Amino acid sequence: MEKIVSLAKRRGFVFPGSEIYGGLANSWDYGPLGVELRNNIKQLWWKMFVHSREDMVGIEAALIMNSKVWEASGHLAEFTDPLVECKKCHERFRADHIDLSAACPNCKEKGYFTTPKNFNMMLKTFLGPAEEEANTVYFRPETAQAMFVQFKNVLQTSRKRLPFGIAQIGKAFRNEITPGNFIFRTREFEQMEIEYFIREGEWETHFEAWRKSMHEWIKAVGIDESKVHELEIPDGERAHYSKRTMDFEFDYPFGQKELYGLAYRGDFDLKNHETASGENLKYRDPETNEELLPHVIEPTWGVDRTLLAVLLSSYEEDGERVFLKLPPKIAPYKAAIFPLLANKPELIDFARTIYTDLQKHFPVMWDDRGNIGKRYYSQDEIGTPFCITVDFDSLEKQDVTVRFRDMGTQERIPIKELVSFITTRLM
Ligand code: ATP
Repeated sequence: MEKIVSLAKRRGFVFPGSEIYGGLANSWDYGPLGVELRNNIKQLWWKMFVHSREDMVGIEAALIMNSKVWEASGHLAEFTDPLVECKKCHERFRADHIDLSAACPNCKEKGYFTTPKNFNMMLKTFLGPAEEEANTVYFRPETAQAMFVQFKNVLQTSRKRLPFGIAQIGKAFRNEITPGNFIFRTREFEQMEIEYFIREGEWETHFEAWRKSMHEWIKAVGIDESKVHELEIPDGERAHYSKRTMDFEFDYPFGQKELYGLAYRGDFDLKNHETASGENLKYRDPETNEELLPHVIEPTWGVDRTLLAVLLSSYEEDGERVFLKLPPKIAPYKAAIFPLLANKPELIDFARTIYTDLQKHFPVMWDDRGNIGKRYYSQDEIGTPFCITVDFDSLEKQDVTVRFRDMGTQERIPIKELVSFITTRLM
């Protein structure tokens, strides 16, 4: 974990938030490479679950919604975690994360925990100039509710038929009691969520289909599948409206913990919003005219936990060499161009033309500093799959040396074939 955190900072993936002011506990900013990796993860997800499917459409809702949404969804009353405080050191913990009969993990004293108290995790703010109760609003704690609240508009405009889904990627905020473990648990994070609307009788089939799709995603994005474990949430621990919920857990260096979730939510959400808003949120079957409230399967993914699991899964050490074996399609840079020598203008000019040509197709990095070995190491650490060296032979023979990140092997490729050579390896 320390190696990942240090590489992430050193190479510009993730920086501590507000660092020049001493930081802000558990807040992180994504740097130049982090934002590329994040965007690539989100684009891959959108491509896989929205663009490649006829039964999916997307939305992007406001982060702050009418507070009645959170009243109807049950979040205002129930989106709580049990909080305990150690009376000795005043450190706070989630009661379900520690053993209350044991010593305090912070001060090691025993018997000082307060009785657990429910703490609402919604982050509050005020809209408008007056900080009064009537102006209180909340930053959304999940992206999901917007898909229910906009269900009718989406249905009317997209004219989708059951089964179909609404997808959204966006920020969510939770006043977590114990954030930590780098980007694993923060108070501001991003989710990729789908509400998949179905007929009640088909829920088991769709649940299984989404379970399979989630495994396909895990593979596609480059998460080590052998470190992912399904956890069936047993009766009594699931939300009362859910007949089946499954967590996908990952072996992080700090333990096996949640990566993604999959839940059958029945018609709980649409029903609540229908009752609270007074709007008819039913689906009318175009053939039979039958009206029904669709049921929902909800697969949910955290962007930040994905990025962490991807970094942990792709980190490799081979002697002195450190490399990230990221799937080429999500690597921040697809290729790096190296003129063999930095002081030969004809070589530089020639390499520059290759660089600008490749840039039209995918992100490419230019590097003419130091020796070639160091340039390879530098690209390996950020997961660039192809390093292209332009030498004097290139001028004559119109070809370059392509070096492959994972094996360290090399091949001469004609310059006119470079774009297609790399593009076919980005699928
Ligand atoms: P946990 O049990 O770890 O608190 P959760 O069950 O509350 O998670 P969900 O409400 O199912 O999480 O949220 C969906 C997804 O959003 C999670 O699977 C996770 O990937 C991500 N996520 C949730 N909370 C956080 C957080 N505080 N920081 C980063 N990602 C989060």
